[in-house]
Amino acid sequence: MDAQFVKSVFTLKDLPQDRLPEIAVAGKSNVGKSSLLNKLLKKRNLAKTSQTPGKTRCLNYFQVTPDKRGPFYLVDLPGYGYAKVSQSMRDEWARLIEGYLALPDRPRGIIALFDSRREPTDVDLDWIAWLAQWGRPYLIVLTKCDKLSNNEKAQSLRRWTLDEPTAQKPLLSSALDGTGAEKIWQWVDTVRAGRAAAA
Ligand code: GDP
Repeated sequence: MDAQFVKSVFTLKDLPQDRLPEIAVAGKSNVGKSSLLNKLLKKRNLAKTSQTPGKTRCLNYFQVTPDKRGPFYLVDLPGYGYAKVSQSMRDEWARLIEGYLALPDRPRGIIALFDSRREPTDVDLDWIAWLAQWGRPYLIVLTKCDKLSNNEKAQSLRRWTLDEPTAQKPLLSSALDGTGAEKIWQWVDTVRAGRAAAA
């Protein structure tokens, strides 16, 4: 497995032009995105290295080369729902993400992270509906599940099983004990090969 940070993209004209498959990962700040990316990519601090000030309003590109399979990009989408940024910053960010998701075949799939301990809020459901409208396969991953009992895990999965035609069943994950990593990889492999149907 080889994984490295490639670049931060602030405007669509700076997107890589090499047409490698792209899988986007989205989640609010503190959801455990960096920890999960590091776990998936078997690195210690890879995801955090891109989080220097000013880099939260861009797309962060990581090039990943799993064994024998060709390279692809994991694209870290900045968090949504920031309370502290101004409306104009939010608009700028929304334009970048929207412009990106509206491009044909880019990304091939989206991983949406949520804290497994929380119930979906209206903001979360709006965000999922917004992601779904581009018809790309997306996967809901429920983070930090090591903090839940078995009952709570079952409850979390039920809560996040949405009545959406393009959704897969949600997955539980833990960056601490590695829960979910294998299933996330299976999904990524299918999607980047273009084999996962949107529905
Ligand atoms: P990010 O802001 O989404 O990149 O979140 P981080 O990866 O920095 O994690 C935020 C906090 O949650 C940190 O204190 C992590 O140690 C903790 N955390 C992240 N993933 C897990 C997990 O799977 N289990 C537990 N128990 N804590 C986690």
